[in-house]
Amino acid sequence: MLKGTKIYSIFTGACPKCQQESMYETKNPYVLGDVLKINEHCSHCKFKYRIEPSFFYGSMYVSYGVGIAFAVAAFVISYLMLNSSLMTAFIAIVVTLIACGPIIMRLSRNIWINMFVSYDKSLAKKQVS
Ligand SMILES: [Zn+2]
Repeated sequence: MLKGTKIYSIFTGACPKCQQESMYETKNPYVLGDVLKINEHCSHCKFKYRIEPSFFYGSMYVSYGVGIAFAVAAFVISYLMLNSSLMTAFIAIVVTLIACGPIIMRLSRNIWINMFVSYDKSLAKKQVS
């Protein structure tokens, strides 16, 4: 299991500190109204997700990079692997970015918060009241 690593927290959206529960109100990123709804605190370790006001604005820089990674992947698959035309490859990129939008947004936030917060093994074990 990857539990305890930043990879785990980034891909599951778990609390970066204890990884006992999801940061998000709704786990499914495709419930579009709730994509960016984050709980105030972790109910397990009481970690405050919004470290400072507008903390998550910084994740926009990350989403730029994540978006490019998805775009490159879409391009490689359609243009290089499926031998599509450039136009089709371009459409594939746009469709991928739109379809994966919610995932990209959440991944970026997860990466962003994990750049500042590290997993704390002691918090995962004991129940903080
Ligand atoms: Zn926690």
